[in-house]
Amino acid sequence: MPAKKKSVKTLRCPTCGMLVRAQDEDFPFCSDRCRKIDLGKWAMGVYKISSPVLDPEVLEDLGGLTGGHRKGSDDE
Ligand SMILES: [Zn+2]
Repeated sequence: MPAKKKSVKTLRCPTCGMLVRAQDEDFPFCSDRCRKIDLGKWAMGVYKISSPVLDPEVLEDLGGLTGGHRKGSDDE
């Protein structure tokens, strides 16, 4: 292993893959634009995860519980 060199820490922009320096204003993104694109992706992902009850089968099940057949009504 070579001796430790004093190097600038760099990362690749998660959005476009460009090298970004740690001292950069928009680190770890190369620009404000890429940061916003990544945040947008995140927001969409979170939205998807946080709405699991939009399953048609689940909605049908809930409808069956509230409407229609009622037990305990002796109307003879
Ligand atoms: Zn970028």
